[in-house]
Amino acid sequence: MQLTNRAKQVSNKEMTLAEKMYLPAVVGGLAITIKHFFRKKPTIQYPEVKKYLGPIYRGHHVLKRDEQGRERCTACGLCAVACPAEAISMVAAERKKGEEALYREEKYAAVYEINMLRCIFCGLCEEACPKQAVYLRHDRMVPVFQERDEVIYGKDRLVEKLDDRYIRKNSEVKTTPTEPSLTRSTT
Ligand code: SF4
Ligand code: SF4
Repeated sequence: MQLTNRAKQVSNKEMTLAEKMYLPAVVGGLAITIKHFFRKKPTIQYPEVKKYLGPIYRGHHVLKRDEQGRERCTACGLCAVACPAEAISMVAAERKKGEEALYREEKYAAVYEINMLRCIFCGLCEEACPKQAVYLRHDRMVPVFQERDEVIYGKDRLVEKLDDRYIRKNSEVKTTPTEPSLTRSTT
C-alpha cells in the first residue's frame, strides 16, 4: 500500500549513446537559454525608468491637504502612538486668526517629523489617523540616504505639494493635480 503518490519508479534500462554523451540534457538546457534570451527583459533602467510598484506598496509618506489646500493634520498624536518604531514626533500649535486657509483644524502640527531610518513602512500611522492626513504613497519610494541628517523628514518633505496631489481610489493610487478626493471616508 502506498501512503503517497510521490514514489518514483527508477528505470534501470541501459542509456543510449546520446544520453551517455549528455546530448538531450545539453539540448534541453540550450533551449531554455534561447527561450530566456528572447523574453522581455525584467530589468529596467532605474532611476530613469521607474517600475510600477503596485497599488498596495507602502512608500514615501505624505501629509495630505484637503480640497481647499489646507493641511489636514490636527497634531492629535495618534500616528505617533500607533507607530511601533517610534519614528514620528511632532509639536502642536494653535491656529491663529487669519490662518484658516492654511490649517483645517484649530490645532495643527507646527513640526512633524518622521525618522526614516526607524520607519519600517508598516502603514500603522496611516491606519491610525482619524483625519486622513498621513498616507504612504504607493508610487514613490523613499530615496537612498547619502548623509545622516537626511533621514529626518520634516514638513518640507512630507506636506503634499498643491501641484502634486496624491489620490487613492478603488485600490489604485494616482497622482493628479485636479482630484484631491480619497477612498476613505472624509472626516
Ligand atoms: S509606517 Fe509604521 S514605522 Fe513608519 S512611521 Fe508609520 S507607523 Fe511608524
Ligand atoms: S497625521 Fe493624523 S494621526 Fe498623526 S497627528 Fe496628524 S491628524 Fe493625528
